[in-house]
Amino acid sequence: MKKEKIELIKDGKRLDGRGFEELREIKIEIDVLKRADGSCYFELGNNKALAAVYGPREIHPRHLQNEKTAVVVYNYNMAPFSATDRKRPGPDRRSVEISKASRCALDPVILKEYYPKTTINVYVELLQSDAGTRTAAINAASIALAAAGIPMRDLVSSIAVGKIDGEVVLDLNAVEDNHGEADMPVAMIARTNTITMLQMDGRFTKDEFEVGMKLAEKACHEIYELQRAALIAKYSESVNANVNVNVNTGRGEE
Ligand code: UDP
Repeated sequence: MKKEKIELIKDGKRLDGRGFEELREIKIEIDVLKRADGSCYFELGNNKALAAVYGPREIHPRHLQNEKTAVVVYNYNMAPFSATDRKRPGPDRRSVEISKASRCALDPVILKEYYPKTTINVYVELLQSDAGTRTAAINAASIALAAAGIPMRDLVSSIAVGKIDGEVVLDLNAVEDNHGEADMPVAMIARTNTITMLQMDGRFTKDEFEVGMKLAEKACHEIYELQRAALIAKYSESVNANVNVNVNTGRGEE
């Protein structure tokens, strides 16, 4: 079906007021779920992603075990109330494909060989969606894995770039995704500039692709710093809390 043509850039600005290279606002909260081994709530503009990590734990049924490594299972799910039109509950082709691509995006950093015969389950629920949900989900999952104490080589950071009204722009929202010419979600290990996921819907010229990759790289570095800062803040908060507990206990014994 032919898409309706709407003007996405006016006076050099996008419809939400952003410049071409501007990320949406990011908010990160760690360990928001008590039962999970690690969890993270991640906002990217109007996208709201909640990631929960369980494991490493025994795998059932046993024939799914891998003698040498842990098996990582990634579940991406958009809640029925997350989109403007109610989304049919349960897995569909899109969520199965996104789950597989996202697992592959995170796989290279997880030290799976430390936990043979186990499974590490990563669940990401999208509570609200506005395009870029898979990237928000990967960012959330990466932090939740670290918060669960899963040994990792590094964090993975993710963002999409795309083309609207002939311009290459960063971090498309839903209107831009629906009416634009291209959308390219990227995941990478920012510190080493290693790409762990690259998908593309639409068309870029070679030059546009290169401009887009540069934008994605820069944004992944920014996101990496935010992910790292959130983990450090959380970790120092718990260390400080433990120190306080120890100090209080000590005084009580005097
Ligand atoms: N979307 C929707 N219903 C669906 C799938 C997608 O409303 O069943 C919307 C949702 O806002 C999503 C956007 O379309 O964020 C773009 O979807 P896409 O498949 O490009 O994935 P995303 O950009 O979210 O990773």
